[in-house]
Amino acid sequence: MVLSCQSVAQTLADVVTRRPVLEPVLRAFEDLLAARSALAGELTAAWTNPAAAGGPCPPEWQTERAARGLSLLAGAPLTGLCISVRTAAERLLPLLCAQESLASQRTALEAFFLAPPVLGPDSEPDRRDALARAMLSGDAPAFRNLADEAGLVPELLEFAAEFILSPPLRALAARAVQTGQVEREERNAAPWDEEGAWRQGYCPVCGSFPVIGWLDKPFFEEKNAFLSGGGGKKHLYCSLCGTNWKFRRGACPSCGKDGNGVMEILRESGAARGERLDWCTSCKTYCPTLDLRENDAIPDMDAMALGMLHLDMVAARKGLGPLKASFWNLF
Ligand SMILES: [Zn+2]
Ligand SMILES: [Zn+2]
Repeated sequence: MVLSCQSVAQTLADVVTRRPVLEPVLRAFEDLLAARSALAGELTAAWTNPAAAGGPCPPEWQTERAARGLSLLAGAPLTGLCISVRTAAERLLPLLCAQESLASQRTALEAFFLAPPVLGPDSEPDRRDALARAMLSGDAPAFRNLADEAGLVPELLEFAAEFILSPPLRALAARAVQTGQVEREERNAAPWDEEGAWRQGYCPVCGSFPVIGWLDKPFFEEKNAFLSGGGGKKHLYCSLCGTNWKFRRGACPSCGKDGNGVMEILRESGAARGERLDWCTSCKTYCPTLDLRENDAIPDMDAMALGMLHLDMVAARKGLGPLKASFWNLF
């Protein structure tokens, strides 16, 4: 499903109207979220334009690999991604280093992300390509080695990398949707949206956990009334590569448990406008979730995840842990 939605600025402005107390925090991250989104849009336009065909190609979606729970980019070589990663670093590092937690690491981060690309056939892989590969394959030892070599605290490198790798990965994911659609002659559906194609709580493209979930609105298909529906289907959204995928409503994205009473909902009293936390009674993880049936606009999901941080605080007090750690829910 393609979401045509509000911008980062519109979404945050709406949240500020409802919860003025959050304004300073939201404003502190607004430029960063907006810059990431803008660059992702530029790269996506360039890489999905058949006439231009720039950027690396994602591997082909394979049903059998997906059935084993392997996300699309796990193990993919991604050589040459470093060129656009460097572009992203040029734009995003100054904004990232405006955050207090990263300011002291600026020199090491610049040395890591802004070095000239290494692309020779006999050379060691570029460190940015190696970083992408380690993150996409969930290779924690390789990731720690890269952080050690760069003289960076692993958590801080991860925090920076989540932002800097994101625009190229979003463009790569958009390209994977496009390729999948051409092959199946379908519009508005990614290969992982096909019934039963992907059953995991982590992202089918990059393997990251979702930052937010959403329940869809009722829709009406003009050409085929049988395809119309009442809405309420659950989708998860990955902020690393921008992918949305369908997920079972009664199941936990973290531990995979399913069934009656596994998932509970936590919402504020009063007009919550569909904002809530879905949390697992078994493993105690939660994911912010937005019911679009109770919301007029479709917000920018990254900005919305930040805009629901008041619920992150409630969850922390309840002893629940976030499914996906973000810079604003690490209390
Ligand atoms: Zn992803
Ligand atoms: Zn669970």
